[in-house]
Amino acid sequence: MSAKSYPSAKRQARTCLLCNAPFRGRPDKKYCSASCKNRYNHLRRRKTRTEVKRIDAFLHRNREIIEEILGKARKKMVPRRRLDRMGFRYSYITGLYFNKEGKMYRNVYNYAYMEFSDQAVLIVRRHTSA
Ligand SMILES: [Zn+2]
Repeated sequence: MSAKSYPSAKRQARTCLLCNAPFRGRPDKKYCSASCKNRYNHLRRRKTRTEVKRIDAFLHRNREIIEEILGKARKKMVPRRRLDRMGFRYSYITGLYFNKEGKMYRNVYNYAYMEFSDQAVLIVRRHTSA
């Protein structure tokens, strides 16, 4: 039976997002039961975890590389070769910002880098909130 069979009913028949079983209830209800709701959310989270894992790993590695090179310094000029050797992936960033001179920095969490020249990259620590 489809929902179309009850066009005027206040509590329309729908099908569960997880098991497709028909059910009735409030208009915002999407699942036939609490266990279907929990299972659906569990599967969705698991899918997200799987799909973002690779990208997260690249981002985390980029952050570690910058942290390792910077140490306690606030900024440092680094030969591009060194970043390349350490496996830095320039296209994996968490955001962009432009300084007062209009130079574009690429954020890597609480750090950032700027492609200073063909050979050099400026890495900086960004002020962290809180
Ligand atoms: Zn269900």
